[in-house]
Amino acid sequence: MLKVDACIGCGLCAQVCPFNAIFQFDNEKRIMFFDPDRCGNCNYECNKICPTDAIEGKPDKAELKFEYAQCVGCGKKLDYTVKTAEFLYHKLEKLYEHPEIVYLCDSCKHERVKEFPREYIKFFGGVLK
Ligand code: SF4
Ligand code: SF4
Repeated sequence: MLKVDACIGCGLCAQVCPFNAIFQFDNEKRIMFFDPDRCGNCNYECNKICPTDAIEGKPDKAELKFEYAQCVGCGKKLDYTVKTAEFLYHKLEKLYEHPEIVYLCDSCKHERVKEFPREYIKFFGGVLK
């Protein structure tokens, strides 16, 4: 089963599916394809990795389209979807005072991070190199 409304188009399921039953196509939009006919009934890796529990057992046949998020600093297309950015934002806002970093490209993060507190810079140091 696939809960279409819960899917954020992150693409993690496509990365772990050993039978190519889930795959993604990236162009103007991200398109996620779910093909249960190809499902090899692995150990339900897609179920385990999905951050929103959108898949239960074998996914239903579906083709879902997602808009990409854009950097609020320079307008560049980010490599994740609007829904994924929203999901990350809500996760991060419970932990850090600057969750808006999810809406910045790497270049703009470098600029903006100078204004952020030391603890924040320390936490994101690994990804801001
Ligand atoms: S359960 Fe099926 S669709 Fe999900 S990862 Fe395994 S083979 Fe792919
Ligand atoms: S891992 Fe879950 S949320 Fe991400 S694309 Fe797959 S079904 Fe959608």
